[in-house]
Parts: sequence; structure tokens; C-alpha cells
Amino acid sequence: MTETMRAAVLRGVRDMVVERRPVPEPGPREVLVRVTAVGTCGSDTHYYEEGRIGPFVVRDPLVLGHEAAGVVAAAGSEVSRHAVGQRVAIEPGVPCFVCAQCRAGRYNLCPDMRFFATPPVDGAFCEYVAVHEEFAYAVPDSVSDEAAALCEPLSVGVWACRKGRVGPGTRVLITGAGPIGLVAVQTARAFGASEVVVTDVNPRRLELAAELGATSTVDVREGAPDGEPEVLLECSGVARAAVDGIRSVGRAGRVVLVGMGGDELPLPLSHVQNNEIELTGTFRYANTWPTAIALAASGAVDLDRLVTHRFGLDEVEQALTAAARDENAVKSVVVP
Ligand SMILES: [Zn+2]
Ligand SMILES: [Zn+2]
Repeated sequence: MTETMRAAVLRGVRDMVVERRPVPEPGPREVLVRVTAVGTCGSDTHYYEEGRIGPFVVRDPLVLGHEAAGVVAAAGSEVSRHAVGQRVAIEPGVPCFVCAQCRAGRYNLCPDMRFFATPPVDGAFCEYVAVHEEFAYAVPDSVSDEAAALCEPLSVGVWACRKGRVGPGTRVLITGAGPIGLVAVQTARAFGASEVVVTDVNPRRLELAAELGATSTVDVREGAPDGEPEVLLECSGVARAAVDGIRSVGRAGRVVLVGMGGDELPLPLSHVQNNEIELTGTFRYANTWPTAIALAASGAVDLDRLVTHRFGLDEVEQALTAAARDENAVKSVVVP
């Protein structure tokens, strides 16, 4: 095997170069994965354009990309889960396993999480990554490389539906038909939701939402959704959408804030109090990959439909800015 690989490295704001770097050495319980597809995410674009996300600041050169899939190319001495040649979807964060949050099963809240493409941990816009064997999940051949990579955003949708306790017959409102809204629609239907209303301001995305299972769609420039959802999955990050959505949720409803936008929200407090509305944020996900892979493998969720653009490792900058140039872009994938 070669000793070096190509990696797209962010050196500073809007400054990315492809460099040769050593192929990572897998630890005893790690597998070395040859990366076959990496989805680009709003957070990657944010790091590229601003050099930071809140408290996470890019101080040293960083490889972005956390939505990855690949093929096991080598295994550490104690690996028992995977053989060389196994196709895998990668869960990009490995927690400490021993803190109070990890022990409570909430490993997404582990303060010592090491997460791809979050400084100082490198991500997957490169040819090889080393991953803990328990965070590489075998995928069947019916799931494409790109769909395996997009099990990461799908996990966000699965987590949102779990937090909102979406189940058979639930009436759901989803605000925002970007990649996360579009996986949330499909997951909500797969979980049995009888009604999934989706709002956005982009007609092409609303069309796609309808094709992927939304029972109705509303362009909020033209009107407001009617009805009284039991669950709001806020996936737009737009304050107005969140506030209007919260107001529309009925008694004992649940509000799940997934989208990231501004940091403050004017909360319609009497509506929340008088109706005993539960409101929660979400931070990444925990224990979602088996469900995500099953949904993709069964066809209940179509991830390939989300891919609108493909780029090579030399074109990561174009991949990260595709959404800004083309309003019909949904998901850009990098194929190293
Ligand atoms: Zn992502
Ligand atoms: Zn922990």
C-alpha cells in the first residue's frame, strides 16, 4: 500500500489546497477505510467561509468532511468486526465511553467527543481515514457509496424523529426542505407519520419533498400551513419559521429544533405553557446508524435522490459553494 494520500486541507478562510499527507496508521481497534464518497454539509461550508462555528475555531490546517463511506483497506491488530474489503458507512464521532453522559447512553453529549472535521480532528475529504471498528457499519450492496455516506444526515433525521417521538399516525410539520428536512420527511413517513406537511420558500425543494413522501407542501411566501401538528421538526434555522411553527403546534405537542441559524428566538411562551408543549434541541445523534442503514437498504428512505452535484478531491471548494451558486442544489458529494 502507498504511504501517502491526497487530502483537501483548509489552511485558512477560503483557502483550501490538496496536499500529500501520510496515510493514517490504524490503532489496535481501528480500521483503515479507503474513502469512496463524502457528502458536504452546511457546517463544512461554514468552516470554509468563516473559519469557525461558535466556539470551534480552525487554528491549524484542517481536513473537512464528516459524511463519509468507504471500503475497509486494513485493520488494526484487535479488530474483529470487519474484514478487508467490507463496505462501511462511517459514524464520524467517537466519544470517551466512560463519562456520565456516555454511561447514560447519551454519547452525543460526551464532552470529550472526537468528531470528524471539528477542530482539531481531521475529517474525510481525503483518500483514507482511520475509524474505530464500532463506528464503521457494514452496508449491504443495495446501498450505494453515496447513500452510505448520507447515512450521516439521515441519522440527524432519525434522531429528530426519535426526539419528537414520531410514530404511527403522528401529524408532523417540517419547516425547511433542505437536505435535513428531506431526510426528516422520509424518516417520519417510515416511522408511520400519517401527515407530514413541509414548508419552504424554494418550489423545487418542495416538489422534491412531495415526491419523497410529504403529504402536503406549503410555500410560505404564499400562505401558511393549516392544521394543528403534534410534532414540529424545525429544519430551516429561520427564526420566523420556528416561531410560527411553535405557535401552530397543538396541546401536548413536541417541538424539535434541528436547524441552525441565529442564536436567539422570541418564544411564544404562553402558547408553550398553556399547551404544555415540550421543546428540545438536538445535538448530532446517538445509536442511529443501524436504523439509518436499514431505512436506506429497505428503500423506505431514498438518499440517492438527494445528490445533485458530484466533485473530485481537487474540487472541494466548488462542492462547498455549490449551494450558493445553484438554488436547486440539494446535496453535493465529493468522490476522492
Ligand atoms: Zn452534516
Ligand atoms: Zn464520554
